[in-house]
Amino acid sequence: MGYVDEVLDLVAKKNADQPEFLQAVTEVLNSLRPVVEANEEVYRKNAILERITEPDRVIMFRVPWVDDKGKVQVNRGFRVQFNNSIGPYKGGLRLHPSVNLGIIKFLGFEQIFKNSLTSLPIGGGKGGSDFDPKGKSDREIMAFCQSFMTELCKYIGADVDVPAGDIGTGAREIGYMFGQYKRIRGMFEGVLTGKGLSYGGSLARTEATGYGLLYITEELMKCHGESMEGKTCVVSGAGNVAIYAIQKAQQMGAKVVTCSDSTGWIYDSEGIDVELLREVKEVKRARLTEYAAARKSAEYHEGRGVWSVKCDIALPCATQNELLLDDAKQLVANGCKAVCEGANMPTTLDATEYLQNNGVLFICGKASNAGGVATSALEMSQNSERLSWTFEEVDAKLKNIMVNIYHNIDDAAKQYGMEGNYVAGANIAGFQKVVDAMLAHGVC
Ligand code: NDP
Repeated sequence: MGYVDEVLDLVAKKNADQPEFLQAVTEVLNSLRPVVEANEEVYRKNAILERITEPDRVIMFRVPWVDDKGKVQVNRGFRVQFNNSIGPYKGGLRLHPSVNLGIIKFLGFEQIFKNSLTSLPIGGGKGGSDFDPKGKSDREIMAFCQSFMTELCKYIGADVDVPAGDIGTGAREIGYMFGQYKRIRGMFEGVLTGKGLSYGGSLARTEATGYGLLYITEELMKCHGESMEGKTCVVSGAGNVAIYAIQKAQQMGAKVVTCSDSTGWIYDSEGIDVELLREVKEVKRARLTEYAAARKSAEYHEGRGVWSVKCDIALPCATQNELLLDDAKQLVANGCKAVCEGANMPTTLDATEYLQNNGVLFICGKASNAGGVATSALEMSQNSERLSWTFEEVDAKLKNIMVNIYHNIDDAAKQYGMEGNYVAGANIAGFQKVVDAMLAHGVC
């Protein structure tokens, strides 16, 4: 049995109850086969694959807090510090009832390669809780965030581990967590990113993941003789990534006709009105039915359905495993040219293969949504030099990073005879830098 298969077997045995983690490891290791085969002796001798699939540490803790009725609630908190070979652990905090150890491990594992691809010095980590922020009062959110940070603050620091936002963790939650860290540790340092502008946040961080997604999509299209101008795009999600992806796509001259949330989706024949969407989602924190009620050209549909709409480009920006094999078939039948992932692992493995085998250009999230963490690393740089850069400076650096990522993954795929396979390219390019560092550090 080859080295990759041996390790896949081992990981499956050790983590049988973590399907998302196994899915991510399987995708990554399968696409690394040519690199592993070319370096098998060294990698085996140093147990590189066994080590890279086992987190440095997993921290799991109780988060008790008191709700508005005076009742004590208990959630479970997580921080997975996966790999710090090229820099401090870096990755978001997800607050969603679906959060469990397997999901946080899948996200932390993916983060290693994504962070490496940005070319910036950040390692891989991820965290969160099964706390559901939906329907909670501001006071309840603060109580949860303070309790969560009371425990987490023992394990993080500006040079140790720098968490950020993710699903359910936006500017408000980061603010409460930062306040609690500062209070307990008695120091003001860049321990979190996605901070407010008044206390060390970076301009363009809010927009970065969505904008970055469009910068890489534009480069992909350009390198295939196309542009974004006049293209029809479908987007899923209506959160941070989706909103700014829609905004940038429209600035590039594309028309975005859909968005979605966890209960339904919108088709808007005139193109999504981003300002209205922001009002509904960011300000009112309401359902998409409110968007449809306020706009004549919009239809609201219950459940899933974004991928049934005819488009040139599809941008999944909601959550993992939201684009399934049947959706991929529908996209191909409708003539979709490109799928670029805004979310983490939104496309299932079989759907990804179907898209790739049917001529759809496909960029995986660890490359195409890396703009968020890249800009978080730029926030860390600004915090370290105690300076703030202008929106234009940050945005220009972000664009440069995304264009470079495209060419790096394209080159890596070509180098191993897999031209156009950007999934393999992303995994290979991200992996190589981390492995070089792991080898340099010896067995640890
Ligand atoms: P948000 O919480 O801002 O938005 C998530 C959106 O997806 C919401 O519209 C939400 O609907 C919808 N959604 C969440 N879970 C589900 C589900 N189980 N089924 C259907 N819809 C769902 O998160 P972000 O926009 O920040 O993150 C979206 C994705 O992008 C995630 O995969 C995240 O890991 C990834 N990502 C985010 C980055 C960032 O900088 N924010 C960076 C890199 C990746 P509802 O409104 O009903 O909750």
